[in-house]
Amino acid sequence: MLQLPAHTAFAIGRLEQAGFAGYCVGGCVRDCLLGRAPADWDITTDALPGQVKAAFADCRLLETGLRHGTLTLVYQGELLEITTFRVDGPYTDGRHPDTVSFTSRLELDLSRRDFTVNAIAYAPRTGLIDPFGGQQDLRKRQIRCVGEPQRRFAEDALRILRALRFSSTLGFSIAPDTALAVHANAPLLGQVSAERITQEFEKLLLGENAGQLLADYADVIGCFLPGFSAPELPISRLPQQIAVRLAAAGACYPPDRFGQRLQALKFPHETVRLAVLLRRLLELPLPGTRTAIRRALHLAGPDALAQSFLMQAARGKDVRQAQTLLRQTLENGDCWERRMLAVSGKDLLHERGNGCRSGAWVGETLDYLLDGVIAGRFPNQPAALLDAARRFWAAGSGVGGPEGAK
Ligand code: ATP
Ligand code: MG
Repeated sequence: MLQLPAHTAFAIGRLEQAGFAGYCVGGCVRDCLLGRAPADWDITTDALPGQVKAAFADCRLLETGLRHGTLTLVYQGELLEITTFRVDGPYTDGRHPDTVSFTSRLELDLSRRDFTVNAIAYAPRTGLIDPFGGQQDLRKRQIRCVGEPQRRFAEDALRILRALRFSSTLGFSIAPDTALAVHANAPLLGQVSAERITQEFEKLLLGENAGQLLADYADVIGCFLPGFSAPELPISRLPQQIAVRLAAAGACYPPDRFGQRLQALKFPHETVRLAVLLRRLLELPLPGTRTAIRRALHLAGPDALAQSFLMQAARGKDVRQAQTLLRQTLENGDCWERRMLAVSGKDLLHERGNGCRSGAWVGETLDYLLDGVIAGRFPNQPAALLDAARRFWAAGSGVGGPEGAK
């Protein structure tokens, strides 16, 4: 007996009242049987989309996936996808079926699904319906294709990466014949769009078993990250943050090349920036003085720096001193960026006197002051900074071109 949320129980009940069958299917059944909280619930039904519409005529339905037979029910502010039993036509592009058609047989719908653990249906009236041995594979903790692995991966190459993803997130092994076909068909991943790859790769990296997967399937990862080799860093022990795990996974690349690879995969700009930054920090020695900490803070900011220490710790380095120095530096309010300086650009303009126009010299002077404060050459106090600025100008620096003139 699975515990169904209100929207799912309502939808199955409503479909049955209208003379149809409705089942929960896929990830939600799998996760319930594993005692995990499902991310979302999916319903599959023999009602055709028009019949679903009629059965829920008094409810709000969104038609976003109508072409594939999916309607989204809005129930008490929550969304629930209801999809008509479907069989996929032939695949000629290794990505999507040429056609999809509806069927009235649940088993056919289950047979098109990727893995046995994702091909179990459940309704309160019928109990579990599991024609491909999904429950047995859940007990064995293994990912196994529904049907012949070779054919299923050739149909849709994304399934290759999904096998690794589920193995990583569930901590399951991959059944031997499925694993063989994963390796053999990996080059087909070249046909899959960067967006779909990235979505699955991200989940794989965040999984509890990511380190093992990257080691065992480096050849597969290399099909969309050319030149990839498994990192020595124990990824599975790192925080489950995508930039951190990417930075660890990218240990085999020079930082800039790694950034280009991630961009090509269409990872969000900010994720790429942070991953490359962390990747760079891994190359640098651990800061051992307050000055070194301020320099590192200037480069990376407090969050990335703290994350880089965790990565170094996973690598076996003793990071306790660096962590203590970082905490002291932050608690003390040390200055490590322009806006923390005790003088502003306005103060500098005021100091230069009437009629002096703003220009590049302001930034140059602020950078000079910041560098001095970070290095501990002068204290972060207004009088000391203005004094340092005057000496800087007197030496002919930071006086700017025409824009600095009166
Ligand atoms: P998650 O918990 O990450 O959402 P999920 O199993 O629900 O995992 P989805 O990507 O949401 O995964 O897909 C829902 C279901 O649709 C799967 O459980 C599976 O039955 C089926 N499915 C999804 N993608 C494919 C695919 N490429 N080939 C075959 N079946 C698929
Ligand atoms: Mg899902």
